[in-house]
Amino acid sequence: EKLDETEVLDALKKHFKFDSFKSDLQRDAILHIMKKETDVLVSMPTGSGKSLCYQLPAVLNPGKITIVFSPLLALIKDQIDHLSILKIKAASLNSASLNSKTLKAERESLLSDLKSMSPVTKLLYITPEQAITNTFKDLFHNLVKFNKVAYIVVDEAHCVSEWGHDFRPDYLRLGDLRKHNDIPFIALTATAGVEVTKDIVSSLKLGKNHKVFKTSSFRSNLYYDVFFQNTLDNLYEHLKDFICKKLNSEYETDVPKEDRSCGIIYCRTREQTEVLSHKLNMLGVKSMCYHAGLKNSTRLECQESWQNGDYPVICATVSFGMGVDKATVRFVIHWGVPKDPASFYQESGRAGRDGKPSHCRIYYNRSDSKAVEFLLSQELAKAKDRESRKAKAKNSIRSFTKMVEYCETANECRHRLFSNHFGDPPITCEINCDICMNKKEVEDMINNFHLKCIQ
Ligand code: ADP
Ligand code: MG
Ligand code: ZN
Repeated sequence: EKLDETEVLDALKKHFKFDSFKSDLQRDAILHIMKKETDVLVSMPTGSGKSLCYQLPAVLNPGKITIVFSPLLALIKDQIDHLSILKIKAASLNSASLNSKTLKAERESLLSDLKSMSPVTKLLYITPEQAITNTFKDLFHNLVKFNKVAYIVVDEAHCVSEWGHDFRPDYLRLGDLRKHNDIPFIALTATAGVEVTKDIVSSLKLGKNHKVFKTSSFRSNLYYDVFFQNTLDNLYEHLKDFICKKLNSEYETDVPKEDRSCGIIYCRTREQTEVLSHKLNMLGVKSMCYHAGLKNSTRLECQESWQNGDYPVICATVSFGMGVDKATVRFVIHWGVPKDPASFYQESGRAGRDGKPSHCRIYYNRSDSKAVEFLLSQELAKAKDRESRKAKAKNSIRSFTKMVEYCETANECRHRLFSNHFGDPPITCEINCDICMNKKEVEDMINNFHLKCIQ
């Protein structure tokens, strides 16, 4: 039978207590997945509600089970707890989480439910390690034979890719589950670059006609530009003026301090964070530094007081930012070159989470990029003939070269670095980068930069 949108909405309210979809993309993905016509890849940022894209269709498939692969027991536990509050029957097959006697009994009853004519379990969560055990293989074979599998879901699907940040070799075997059945595959990942996306499609053997539901990577409230450290007469004054303009402190005296404007300056080395923070304090801009060399407690304190608004500027290495979700970051500066387009997108993207205009700037420096190039070439040399490591090192070099080009040329809209990287249609922002706003000026600056480099 076919379900129309109002029925799906009713189910959303009834089972998940939500009044509406979180986004059009979430709705479109769910309605398409319900039809079971093709495999699907959902690529949306963390927090955009990817789980619902398979959980709602799972609930709307009576008597059938949706199998979900997830990389970590902790993630699985969160999901199951959440679903059990909603009274949706979900379970995990992992024996590691099942050790006591009562849990053994639970496991027995789970297995017998899964083998019954009309199982009540809607979602079965499994780690990829578990997928290669005989218990699972037998169970899967049995479920497929009696046509009891609604979907096969691969959450955090970027784990199939060596180019991703958390490669899990066992994920590569999941594509084998496609043999001898036509159960729709649903792969989910946070916005992934083109290489990672390609790996997901090929490793999971997504059908040729698979459909992609993907958030655009374009952040229209972010302005991108590049300055050159060696062409500025007074580098630190330039930095200070920029910061003061962005922080607008005189207008914010009535604003609670945790909601005041603030900024992040990313540096490549610990030493740079310390030097920069010191310079800024000398110039009257309150700032602190943050890097892995500090004691854990100091680091935590530093992060917390920045988050509370005790001081506006944090000079940090890229280890800063995981789990930081501050809405009022008005600027992110890279002091030197970011590592690659993906990291640059993520780091600079911490600006403007509240949707208000925010600024992402690189203060480029040739000697810094030479230092990185040297480290990367050493990495390649160290790889010798270990192919995978060599390929990885070459990939890092390629990605870094893109960043150097980004800084040292004025060929295209700054946002195009990201639309290229994420495989979005090529964008021209018109008003949100220095190149679109004033190409000539950027070209002059670059020429000046090259002249100064030769001198
Ligand atoms: P992701 O996997 O994309 O990181 P989650 O599936 O964990 O995101 O969802 C993030 C949050 O959004 C959760 O708290 C979830 O309950 C909520 N959410 C999902 N869909 C909706 C919706 N339609 N309306 C309101 N909140 C939603
Ligand atoms: Mg998720
Ligand atoms: Zn532009």
